[in-house]
Amino acid sequence: MTTKKLAADFEQTALADALGAKHAAALEKAFGYQSVGEFLRHFPRRYVEVGELTPIAELPFDEHSTVVAQVVNVSQRQMHSRKGFIFEVTVSDELGDAGQELRMTFFNGYQARNDLQVGTIAMFSGKVGWYQDHLQLSQPDYAILDEASQADPTPIPIYPASAKMPNKRIRDLMGLLLEHVNEQNLPEFLPQPLLDARRYPARWQAFFNRHHPRDLKQAYIARQRFAYEEAFILQLSLAQKNAQLGSQHAVPRARTSGGLADKFDARLPFALTEDQLQVGEEISGDLSLEHPMHRLLQGEVGSGKTVVALRAILQVIDAGGQAALLAPTEVLAAQHYASITKMLGPLADPGLFGEGEGTGVALLTGSAKTAQRREALLGIASGETGLIIGTHALLSDQVRFAELGLVVVDEQHRFGVEQRDALRAKAGDAMPHTLVMTATPIPRTVAMTVFGDLETSTIKRLPAGRAPISTHIVPMQLTGYRDRLYSRIREEVAKGHQVYVVCPRITETAGEQGVLLATYEDTSAQTMSVEMMFEMLRSMPEFEGVEIESLHSQLDAADKAQIMDDFAAGSIDVLVSTTVIEVGVDVHNATLMVIMDAERFGISQLHQLRGRVGRGGLPGTCLLTTWLDADHASVNRLRVIESTLDGFELAEADLLERREGNILGVQQSGSQSTLRELSIIKDRTLIEQARHDVQILMGYAQWHHEYPLLFKTVMGWVDESTREFLNKN
Ligand code: ADP
Ligand code: MG
Repeated sequence: MTTKKLAADFEQTALADALGAKHAAALEKAFGYQSVGEFLRHFPRRYVEVGELTPIAELPFDEHSTVVAQVVNVSQRQMHSRKGFIFEVTVSDELGDAGQELRMTFFNGYQARNDLQVGTIAMFSGKVGWYQDHLQLSQPDYAILDEASQADPTPIPIYPASAKMPNKRIRDLMGLLLEHVNEQNLPEFLPQPLLDARRYPARWQAFFNRHHPRDLKQAYIARQRFAYEEAFILQLSLAQKNAQLGSQHAVPRARTSGGLADKFDARLPFALTEDQLQVGEEISGDLSLEHPMHRLLQGEVGSGKTVVALRAILQVIDAGGQAALLAPTEVLAAQHYASITKMLGPLADPGLFGEGEGTGVALLTGSAKTAQRREALLGIASGETGLIIGTHALLSDQVRFAELGLVVVDEQHRFGVEQRDALRAKAGDAMPHTLVMTATPIPRTVAMTVFGDLETSTIKRLPAGRAPISTHIVPMQLTGYRDRLYSRIREEVAKGHQVYVVCPRITETAGEQGVLLATYEDTSAQTMSVEMMFEMLRSMPEFEGVEIESLHSQLDAADKAQIMDDFAAGSIDVLVSTTVIEVGVDVHNATLMVIMDAERFGISQLHQLRGRVGRGGLPGTCLLTTWLDADHASVNRLRVIESTLDGFELAEADLLERREGNILGVQQSGSQSTLRELSIIKDRTLIEQARHDVQILMGYAQWHHEYPLLFKTVMGWVDESTREFLNKN
């Protein structure tokens, strides 16, 4: 390797220049990394200390993992159909019978047969899966922990790895990089006085300590430094963004009397709850200011957010503006359109010559027919359409608004920050007001630290008449439970109610078709698909005469809408689907939600799915099926769902296990402007510290000049509009 080629800024150096073309290509293939900086931030997940075995039960399911374990059994058998043999190894995380076991197979494993004997301790890597009745490691790879390596007391880093890029190779390549790391090519950008006060090592040192720690404490402090760094940059960019927003202009849209908003309130068939009224006041107040509103409206599914949003929309229309409502999917956009036009009644009718009492409401989705589309676009451009409902198709260049005053985003986590900004940009000089609705409750500290630019309003109480939902885990390994599951569905239909059955995927992969027929009800070997479940239910004698349909994203938009309409109308009894039905769907007669292989879903997803039932005053039931053992880590997650209906509690649990990029609404992969180390829940104290430190720095007018590298880094994090603002100020 020639050091000449290395750029002065080591992080910007191409991996090919630092490690050679071959290794660089392998790293790019495995992780998408191109620069030294990206790879240097490929931090260990954990460390193993020599002499310690990894608890197998805690390994993440379906992910490439590394485990230190001891071989407890080996065997060998001939292949049936072709030449060769299979070498089978069982390892355990404890000696004797007490341990959790993991199996793996090596085809023609000559090397493995030589290396692995009963009693051997090694690091095994592979994807942890469930096969028939045992845990298995597929595509296994191993490194023997021999006595020499056991004599070295430094902790071994365990990286996110893959079969092609195993832990050992990552360690070797990282070792090569670390030889070149120094204070000059990885200069510090955090203010030195802050680092000193917090006793954090310099950046270059922290990289070194993270990948090659002397002991666990050193690794921990280095980790804290990077988490603090992220918290600091995040807080600083939020502070910049706030400064920018404070200087923006919006057209005030105060509530007027005698307009659509008043007429709508008079038409409402129910009384608004106290929460709805209060939140409505907050929004109405924001809309009458000269600065753009940025408000997050949170509330459980069914808490009545849409009604609140609609009142805000009408207020804006009364004040001469237009509103856009963005939904995450076409199905949801169409549903919003249907339910909103119904709620508005005559208020959604502008009349042929503008003589009606209402405003135009239009639906614009990607699948709209050309003529329909042209008409919708005309109405938006002329201003005749006051409310336009759609998906991201609303963001396309063809859509021109006469006077965009308010953007309502339904389900914020499905929309990227960039997309939101694109829509805002459509309002010309003045920014439109924005209201973001979410059913994923966001704990207050999170809202404060992550959405620095959003005020939050919360609807805590559901409207009266909402029945509670009871949730149960169904252990599919037990035949009795399995049979009961199908009879529960049947009973619900017999009572005249409707049932959702949600599966994690649409179809089987080609190789599984055979298994499918062979196993029928015993589907332990694969993840349940919509197609399979659909076929199964239809072929069961007890389901004769029951109307079953399937729904998933690969159907035409028209077919999807038709199926949802039929389900809403009650002509379908059982709807087998993917998560397309997740948010916003409102069928009062649906009382049972069955979620197949529920461990495949995230906590908040499960909670939202569950919210689809119990909406019409009838009690709802949610059944979470799983083939996993009761003591599997993923089953614990299901137990959390089973134990509470409190959205905030679940949101915290969800945050703990999820990558927080989802919350930020920006894509994680590759980009530097993301949180990799910082956990918004676990690192609360760090965030508070960083917030405090940022305030000190901001009080110092010259900081841009004093810390140019810091300024540059912050610029890498903030969005386009803030960047423009910063460059001007
Ligand atoms: P969200 O958008 O929060 O999921 P919606 O606004 O769609 O909830 O409301 C769910 C259902 O409850 C709708 O049918 C709506 O008409 C009804 N609803 C809303 N507010 C009230 C209320 N105050 N009293 C009774 N029903 C209400
Ligand atoms: Mg909704």
